[in-house]
Amino acid sequence: MFDFDNSYARLPERFFAPIYPPPVNNPKILKFNDELAADLGLAVTSDPVRLAGLLSGNIVPLGAEPISMAYAGHQFGNFVPQLGDGRAILLGEVIDAMGARRDIQLKGAGPTPFSRGGDGRAALGPVLREYIVSEAMHVLGVPATRALAAVATGDEVYREEVEQGAILVRVAASHVRIGTFQFFAARSDDDGVRRLADYVIERHYPELSAGENPYMGLLEAVAMRQADLIARWLGIGFIHGVMNTDNMSISGETIDFGPCAFLDEFDPLKVFSSIDRAGRYAYRNQPGIGQWNIARLAECLIPLLHRDEATAVEAANGVLAKFNARFQSSWLTVFRNKIGLESASEGDGELIQALLAAMHEGRADFSLAFRRLADAADGDDEAFLRCFSDQAKAAEWLGMWRSRLGSKTLGENELGAALRRTNPAIIPRNHRIEQAIASARSGDFNVFERLLEAVQRPFEEVPEFADYVMPPEPEERVARTFCGT
Ligand code: AMP
Ligand code: MG
Repeated sequence: MFDFDNSYARLPERFFAPIYPPPVNNPKILKFNDELAADLGLAVTSDPVRLAGLLSGNIVPLGAEPISMAYAGHQFGNFVPQLGDGRAILLGEVIDAMGARRDIQLKGAGPTPFSRGGDGRAALGPVLREYIVSEAMHVLGVPATRALAAVATGDEVYREEVEQGAILVRVAASHVRIGTFQFFAARSDDDGVRRLADYVIERHYPELSAGENPYMGLLEAVAMRQADLIARWLGIGFIHGVMNTDNMSISGETIDFGPCAFLDEFDPLKVFSSIDRAGRYAYRNQPGIGQWNIARLAECLIPLLHRDEATAVEAANGVLAKFNARFQSSWLTVFRNKIGLESASEGDGELIQALLAAMHEGRADFSLAFRRLADAADGDDEAFLRCFSDQAKAAEWLGMWRSRLGSKTLGENELGAALRRTNPAIIPRNHRIEQAIASARSGDFNVFERLLEAVQRPFEEVPEFADYVMPPEPEERVARTFCGT
């Protein structure tokens, strides 16, 4: 089914641990992503038993070289020199229909040499959560790992309660993380850092190899992709929840959807994750943390940047400054689009901040308020104003917005349509995900299927999915999300 070509397994042995996937009891496909399988050029077997075997690790296909990758990482600011794939097995790599190399990974496939006392398993709930959210991110145009399948293992998993075990078959541009560099740097393994950097340049940033200083180029390129990625997160109200350096992909994809969540009511200090007690990874802290993470990558690359350490450090600091500048401009682009500004002008940042402030004070739902701006553009101000408890501020803002739009705006109908193509009506809201998971736990996957269908059409507002557009009722609100995968 997979035509593997495994470049990571050809790296030196200390980069990973070979692992034969531990068998699971009774694998059953819960969901298979046919469209992604076609993009990957997979020859999918029509035998469901064999398919479940392949996607659970019970059958290891010809050409697979299953490994668990070694990495380190800063978890909530504290350095852990060895983490690694404790519950994930990289089956191998395939070249997709566009010619891009993609990893096929089984997440929750069982214990590995990196499990550190964990069971190596995943529970049904977190697997379905990652399936929904990663596919939604993709449709919203935000780089993210993808979900090829969710498979029930037929095993029990012990968390706070007994849970059904499941595996997420995840597809990524690669699974190299900032923490992968830290693994070698922490061991003063300069050769390892260099080999990893060369590998990453060849795989993700081939254009850099011809440059004057490819390693400097690499640091800057990763920084720019992270800055762009986080700007996009903020644009859809996404909170990753656990931006540890081991959860930040070198390729610039969103990875590791643990306690992640989308904002309902706008609050820049919002935190959902039950383990993030200090609010380190709150909504508005994400760009600052992104830069902090890039600083950790820079530390690993210092020996490669320049023979003279002081010169290398100065160059790295230059990249950190560029991260800030890039984030600012990327954020402005994202939010200019969200309010329908076609060109840049001096006070745009303030205009956007004024809207966000009105949303915060007026307890407006982030996604719905932006969505209803399209109605205001069509002349229905009420639809927009209803999103705010304090309508005076919002009305005042509409005035400012209209004078900024001036006469050089799109035609009346065009502006509303443009806003509807930019601001999603449907995001995977927390309470909907929880409902889908609760039903799935008792064997009913219809709620999951319907939610998945809805989030795959985020910019349409069809009556069939009207219930997904609305914020949670007070009793439906989810205050906390859990990491416990
Ligand atoms: P995460 O919270 O997903 O970023 O994981 C942090 C680290 O803990 C990684 O090294 C994971 O592989 C490891 N880990 C998380 N859950 C488990 C588990 N159930 N069994 C073994 N290792 C785990
Ligand atoms: Mg992780």
